[in-house]
Amino acid sequence: MQRRITTSRAKKRQDMLHDLASDEVVCVTTGTGYSRATEAVHALGRIRDGTYGICADCRKRIPAARLMVKPEAARCVACQVEYERR
Ligand SMILES: [Zn+2]
Repeated sequence: MQRRITTSRAKKRQDMLHDLASDEVVCVTTGTGYSRATEAVHALGRIRDGTYGICADCRKRIPAARLMVKPEAARCVACQVEYERR
């Protein structure tokens, strides 16, 4: 079972995701950043179900440094590169 996110850093990340997700309406009309906002909505769902920070493909923990840069990341760098190659 995954540990619930309780640290202040995780809370900050969750707030960032909320901000990204709330940009979705603007992004839909401008056509920019839509994908990132959608990813943020998905990340919020992962926080709710306790799988946030776990790679969707290899199921290993996504490095904190990656989540700092891209809090909505669903995959570790290696799996993301492989995913984009498909
Ligand atoms: Zn992975």
